[in-house]
Amino acid sequence: MSTAKRPPITTSLFEFFKSGPGPSSSHTIGPMAAGVDFRDRLGKLPPATAAGGVDIRVRLLGSLSATGQGHGTDKAVLTGLAGFTPADCPPSLPRGILELPPEKRCVPLGGRSLELGMRNIVFDSIDHDYPFSNTLICELLDSSGGVLFEMVYFSVGGGFIQWEGWTHPLRGEPVYPYASTAELQAHVEETGLTIAQIVLHNEMAITGAGRRDILEKLDGVVDIMRRAVDRGIAASGLLPGTLHVHRKAGDLARQAEAESDPLIRFMLHLNAYAFAVSEENAAGGIIVTTPTCGSAGVMPAVLRLLERHFSLGPEAIQNGMLAAAAIGFLAKHNAGIAGAEVGCQGEIGVASAMGAAMLAQARGFPARIVENAAEIALEHHLGLTCDPVGGYVQIPCIERNAMGALKAYNASLVAAAEDVKKHRVTLDMAIEAMGETGRDMNSKYKETSRGGLAVAMVEC
Ligand code: SF4
Repeated sequence: MSTAKRPPITTSLFEFFKSGPGPSSSHTIGPMAAGVDFRDRLGKLPPATAAGGVDIRVRLLGSLSATGQGHGTDKAVLTGLAGFTPADCPPSLPRGILELPPEKRCVPLGGRSLELGMRNIVFDSIDHDYPFSNTLICELLDSSGGVLFEMVYFSVGGGFIQWEGWTHPLRGEPVYPYASTAELQAHVEETGLTIAQIVLHNEMAITGAGRRDILEKLDGVVDIMRRAVDRGIAASGLLPGTLHVHRKAGDLARQAEAESDPLIRFMLHLNAYAFAVSEENAAGGIIVTTPTCGSAGVMPAVLRLLERHFSLGPEAIQNGMLAAAAIGFLAKHNAGIAGAEVGCQGEIGVASAMGAAMLAQARGFPARIVENAAEIALEHHLGLTCDPVGGYVQIPCIERNAMGALKAYNASLVAAAEDVKKHRVTLDMAIEAMGETGRDMNSKYKETSRGGLAVAMVEC
């Protein structure tokens, strides 16, 4: 696969770093956004069509059908249809959507209200011919069950949605266009800017927003990540679902505090930060897609590491976040970041690469080291399958975030220690390998819970 002929990346930072409820960006945030979009479209239907509508049906296909129950996809769609967006969703939702009074759990249509409930959701075929595994079809039905209006949505990873006929949103041209790491590095060499500065300039050009507004908004994203760490460490007890998984972040943090060996203490802290956010995600708490919900623990762990163990301040953190975004954009643009499309290499692997880049950029290393750190982290996640047990984002996902954070740190150390001219694998090569491996990967290992640990582990 050649990345050179692809159009330049025009993804905005805040499309990529989305806050919303866990446990899954593709199975919770994306379907919720589809529900909101369908509700908006129903409000614009011609009166004659709206007048004939009596009910709504949402058919979940592919991985959304296979693991949608464990991921809470059904309730996420209903929450979106009820008008709650991922960013403004109260903490009790989507899990508590069915407990809301009927007047708050409904869709307005032609001056009437259609009450929402589980009858609206159909777990349909796992195998289908649509271009993305995570497909959902929202339908407005008439009194004889006929379809008056429908939309076919694709949840393409990281909380992004598309639909049949979708085109890229119109926006400004990036000042420094790139579709590959090679093109990004060429801008660095020509301009003397850092990767972080290039991402910031492009964000201003793409969105029209000013530098200060963008950085303030980025600080807000970082704050959500920080708060997820704190909540996760303070929480205890069992996570939702049938697996009976206990939260461990608080125990890890307490053991870290009591530990006298500085290396063990450091490792325990890093594990505690990653567990904390991953457990929050599994419990449906508010996290940031970095790049997805399932992998949302890696970057906050790196963030806490930079703040608490390297004593770095807000500017270094902003730069780290911007460089991490560049790595995530490249992976999404050229391969994929959804477990249902490319396996867990696209989630934890990309999160680890982003974390490694964040560490290298925040600590002030040059762009080649930032790239090499990301490359090393991604390379050693290639082939990683997605096999969530019971369809819950708990086993292997929570521990896997801690492993991704540790690899991110180690990758940044190795990259910083070596002569960049001697580094043999580029990030473009690793992303290409991830895309090819993902395409070849059997669908059993792509978020369907039909293979791997999801089958090997017997629930008791
Ligand atoms: S195994 Fe990886 S890709 Fe799959 S749900 Fe868990 S974190 Fe996401």
